[in-house]
Amino acid sequence: MIEIRVTGQTREERARSLAQQLEGLYSGEPTPSSWRGGRSEGLRRLATFDVRRYADGRNYTQGSTVSQLSPYIRHGALTLAEVRDVVVRQHPRSVVEKFVNELAWRAFWRSVYAAKGTAIGRNIELPKYTRPVRWSATLPDDVAQAQTGLACIDDGLHELFTLGYVHNHWRMWFAAYLLHWRRVDWQVGARLFEQHLLDGDPASNRLSWQWVAGTFSHKPYYFNRANVERYSRGMHCVRCSAAAACPFEGSYEVIAQRLGLPQA
Ligand SMILES: Cc1cc2nc3c(=O)[nH]c(=O)nc-3n(C[C@H](O)[C@H](O)[C@H](O)COP(=O)(O)OP(=O)(O)OC[C@H]3O[C@@H](n4cnc5c(N)ncnc54)[C@H](O)[C@@H]3O)c2cc1C
Repeated sequence: MIEIRVTGQTREERARSLAQQLEGLYSGEPTPSSWRGGRSEGLRRLATFDVRRYADGRNYTQGSTVSQLSPYIRHGALTLAEVRDVVVRQHPRSVVEKFVNELAWRAFWRSVYAAKGTAIGRNIELPKYTRPVRWSATLPDDVAQAQTGLACIDDGLHELFTLGYVHNHWRMWFAAYLLHWRRVDWQVGARLFEQHLLDGDPASNRLSWQWVAGTFSHKPYYFNRANVERYSRGMHCVRCSAAAACPFEGSYEVIAQRLGLPQA
């Protein structure tokens, strides 16, 4: 996770401070990811993970309290059971419950994959749009180049391409953006993630895309600008050149209507 500390009193000062820090991160050639592999590194991260801060901070993409253990679990350097046992041994149930629930999501996706096999690569249920949708089977160039002009989308794409890890909340925003705003088939997005994510995994990835698409959940997931501002602590919108005409602006009701999605 990239740590960015925005300083300054005025909006301009804060934007300048952010721009200076992002300059080094996002300019030029992709930098090699700083992730290190192996079980000993996984165990070190598990030992330093503070589960007491998890529930309150996990949804924030900036200053998040997530464990970043997924690449280690994905590749078998750590098992789900040992991660669960370490936290459960150290803290009461009320403290670890949220984290253990998240581990359970992974176990659930795995069991669905075991039961359905490669069928998880196709729509499990019909999409739940209120009007017909024509899906594109190609990734738009601006997305492939992280140049959509929307800072919240492009910043995450840069992280995906250079670091191979992005926060869960950004994954949800991006999947919803590609599906509902750009009308790109979820398999295209899932392929992009599997190409770049260090934790790229057929079960968690394809079923999470289907959860966002609403083809494996009771309704599609979508978001609005207020959600991005809150959970990114405002770090994208302050420097977004499209902020004045943000496509994510509006209440959930208005956005659902605009996109032909069922009301929440
Ligand atoms: C569109 C989309 C695609 C995704 N693709 C992948 C993928 O390819 N591989 C992958 O491992 N995860 C995937 N996820 C799930 C989730 O984003 C990651 O597991 C999580 O961000 C990993 O970061 P972490 O280890 O810090 O998670 P933490 O919040 O610290 O959670 C601890 C562990 O619980 C499990 N976990 C947490 N959230 C989820 C979740 N929503 N679904 C399943 N397991 C979860 C992971 O094993 C994770 O390491 C995807 C989510 C979305 C919305």
